Amino acid sequence: MTENEFSSIVKEYTDRYFLINGKRPGVFVRTFGCQQNEADSEILTGIAVELGYEKADSENGAELVIFNTCAVREHAELKALSITGQLKHLKNANPDMIIAVCGCMVAQEHRLNTIRQSYPYVDIIFGTASHSRLPEYLSGVIRDRERIFSPDDSYEIEEGLPVKRESDFKAWVSIMYGCDNFCTYCVVPYVRGRERSRRREDILSEVRTLVSEGVKEITLLGQNVNSYGKTLYDNYDFADLLTDICKIEGDYIIRFMTSHPKDATKKLVDVMAANSTNQSRPRIARSFHLPLQSGSDDILKKMNRHYSTENYLSFVSYLRDKIPDIAISTDIIVGFPTETEEDFEKTLEMLNKVRYDAFFSFIYSIRQGTPAAKMEQVPDKVKSERFSRMLDLQNSISLEKNALYVGNTERVLVEGISKTDSDMLTGRNEKNRLVHFKGKECLIGSFAYVKITRADTYCLTGELAKEET
Ligand code: SAM
Ligand code: SF4
Repeated sequence: MTENEFSSIVKEYTDRYFLINGKRPGVFVRTFGCQQNEADSEILTGIAVELGYEKADSENGAELVIFNTCAVREHAELKALSITGQLKHLKNANPDMIIAVCGCMVAQEHRLNTIRQSYPYVDIIFGTASHSRLPEYLSGVIRDRERIFSPDDSYEIEEGLPVKRESDFKAWVSIMYGCDNFCTYCVVPYVRGRERSRRREDILSEVRTLVSEGVKEITLLGQNVNSYGKTLYDNYDFADLLTDICKIEGDYIIRFMTSHPKDATKKLVDVMAANSTNQSRPRIARSFHLPLQSGSDDILKKMNRHYSTENYLSFVSYLRDKIPDIAISTDIIVGFPTETEEDFEKTLEMLNKVRYDAFFSFIYSIRQGTPAAKMEQVPDKVKSERFSRMLDLQNSISLEKNALYVGNTERVLVEGISKTDSDMLTGRNEKNRLVHFKGKECLIGSFAYVKITRADTYCLTGELAKEET
């Protein structure tokens, strides 16, 4: 059967549903994990909507539920398994409901088998790289009520798939997929395949379209954006791509993640500086996410990270030299196998030396099949004790750094109504700081200038100074 025939079967079903029920069947995609998964979920929703489904707000009442799972830490997997378990009663109440589980967790054979054997009400299981086959999977269930298990057998880049974005003014743009770095703790290379870059024409055309549609913030995504292009071009890298993107006219700001320190270049910093400093509306956000993972050179070696703390600090110093007010954030893993108290203190020292604006910290989680799983493990109690010491230190640094904003007027992209106070709007400044302020809802989706009056550890509060014209 052809792709069109698969799609026709699903469309016939969604049209029939509409005739009988007077509404389109709902699709709900629940995302676990990182921004890459969020971007993938927007594609899955886009495909379903094109097949005649309507986006639903929750699993309740949806005819198609897709769980897009994460495998980076055990906690994320256990959460996905537990929530999948809760779908059983929905399926009992509505046996026609289709349940799919996809993404990194089920790209691992042992997890695919768990779902297959212990969750018989899950109809479809597929991996991370075959979104375009969703019509085929759905048609199989609709026509034959068969269960479908489809681990990835190809990692080819799929261009031109429909996307239903969560936001009208913020967008993810994947510039590459997969990872070749094999950090010894990490499952990503096993579940997302080898590194592959999208063609620059495809990326530039997507960005151009988004800007013409009025999107204000575009985040370029990749597991290691600094090695963009290596699999495609001899002489065109991430810095070149950024330069080309910045030539696109419009009122928008570019972010990117994640940068691997071993591949971060001075050329990239120079391009950032040229497009962000001395401008009232910088094209590239003055914000850099640079995962350190550990402050101990011994541990970095065991992690297979290919940089030392000295290389790292020298890159940070170049970055700050060229863009003095750049905000730097990082990822740290606490309790990597064999980590001693001395290793851990070196991580604290790095936090004190770099003084990050923000960080994401993780307790090391054993990932089956990775080299670190076989190394000597640190006891859980030691890991959690170190984790809270590190959090205390970084929280005090974040608070001190946030306090420096008080009195400043910040340009903020207004994202919505605050989750904690419905009287307040919330948004982010260029440095990715969360900013709360009172203002009219019509500001959502535009830039506003906010005078900062108060700093807390995780956010800033202020007063609207002016709307951007
Ligand atoms: N490719 C990006 C990079 O290299 O920084 C991010 C990949 S991963 C999805 C995001 C973060 O999860 C990593 O930076 C790391 O700190 C953390 N992480 C990955 N594997 C982990 C593990 N087994 N246990 C705890 N944290 C982990
Ligand atoms: Fe995982 Fe390392 Fe690749 Fe990041 S660079 S995805 S941490 S293997």
